[in-house]
This record gives sequence, structure tokens and C-alpha cells, in this order.
Amino acid sequence: MVNLMLIGPPGAGKGTQAERLVRDLGVLHLSTGDLLRNAIQNDTTLGRKAKQAVEAGDLVPDDVVIGLVETRLEQKHVDQGFILDGFPRTQEQAAALEVFLERLGQPLDHVIIFEIPADVLLSRVEHRAMQSKAAGHAVRSDDNADVLRKRLQEYGATTRMIPFYEKRGLVTRVDANTAVDEVSTRIRAIIATSHRPSHDREAESKE
Ligand code: AMP
Repeated sequence: MVNLMLIGPPGAGKGTQAERLVRDLGVLHLSTGDLLRNAIQNDTTLGRKAKQAVEAGDLVPDDVVIGLVETRLEQKHVDQGFILDGFPRTQEQAAALEVFLERLGQPLDHVIIFEIPADVLLSRVEHRAMQSKAAGHAVRSDDNADVLRKRLQEYGATTRMIPFYEKRGLVTRVDANTAVDEVSTRIRAIIATSHRPSHDREAESKE
């Protein structure tokens, strides 16, 4: 089992890599962006609280997102491991996460940072919107250049948390401006290097 956190700007390919890891390792994918988009689509109370911020590329209030993650981490089985994608984005969220993981007895194994230039992201986001349209799917309302700029600014704030994980020796940076398969290979190599003693991991996977 492995517990990962993926950090990267919008369009860096975190979702694609997370999907592959779910398929290969059976881990839980916890993407706050996906959960919020679902809630908005289903017009739930939570969705109504989050809609305006998501559509403008602003951060959804901490209490809303923290509540969402707490529910998921308690409901879903994390014994195969998990991937946090898009969470935490603020210091307050990072602090809440520490409490949740302590309670679950599930330490983080790796924090993977997706590195990619901003101009590449813009063309990726435009491409994703075009592909969705061509396939007859709804285009994400936050997939456009203006909102992307806002989301990139928000990402800048998120990166301030990285030193907290760096100090614990958990961070690895990955060049995300390469083929999807190459990024996957790199991530698999990172996962293969364990920070935890193997007996710990074995004991946990048997529990
Ligand atoms: P993402 O798909 O991770 O880029 O998230 C899409 C949008 O959902 C973001 O632009 C925010 O509006 C909102 N969002 C996702 N995760 C968080 C979070 N951890 N904290 C606050 N807002 C979030």
C-alpha cells in the first residue's frame, strides 16, 4: 500500500496519473476538485456552497473542503492506500489533514510535485475543453484562459506548503512536461522507494 499526495498546477496531468494508479494499485483517489464538481452537478447543499468559487477559479472555503475530505477519509476504505489530489491547498487544510491521518494511522509516503511551464498548461486546458466538446461532454466551466490564470495564482499560494513536506523528506519533483507514460514510469519508481520500514507497511496491509 502507498499513501500519496499529488501537487501540481491545473492541467499538469495529476488526474490522469491518479487514474492509472487507481487502476494499478487499487488505491483510493481523493480529488477535492472532482468531489466539488460532482456536488455542484448534483446541486447538493455542499455544491451550492462551492459553485461560485469553483466557477471563478477561487478557493472554496476551508471548512467546506475539510468537511468533505474528512467524510471521504472516514467513509472509504483506505487500507489499500490513497492519493490526495488537489488537497491540501492551504495551511489550515494541511493542519486538518495531519489530524485525519494521525487518527487513521496512515502516514504519507510521498508528496509528488508535477512541474510544468505555465504556457504549456494554457494549451493543455484549451485542448481538454476542445476534446470534451468534440466528445459531446460538458466542458468544465473553469477550463478557460481567464479562470486558468486565476487558478495558477491560487496554485502559487498552494506551493507555500511544500517546505512543510520537504522538511520531512517526503517531496519528489517530477517533470510533467513529458509523455504520460514517462511520467507514470517516474512515479512508479518513486513509489518503489519506501520511506517506511517494510515491516510497518506489511503489518498495515495485513490489518
Ligand atoms: P482542481 O480540479 O483540483 O483544479 O479543483 C477545481 C476547483 O475546485 C479549484 O479551482 C477550487 O475552486 C476548488 N477546489 C478544489 N480543491 C480545493 C481545495 N483543496 N481547497 C479549496 N478549493 C478547492
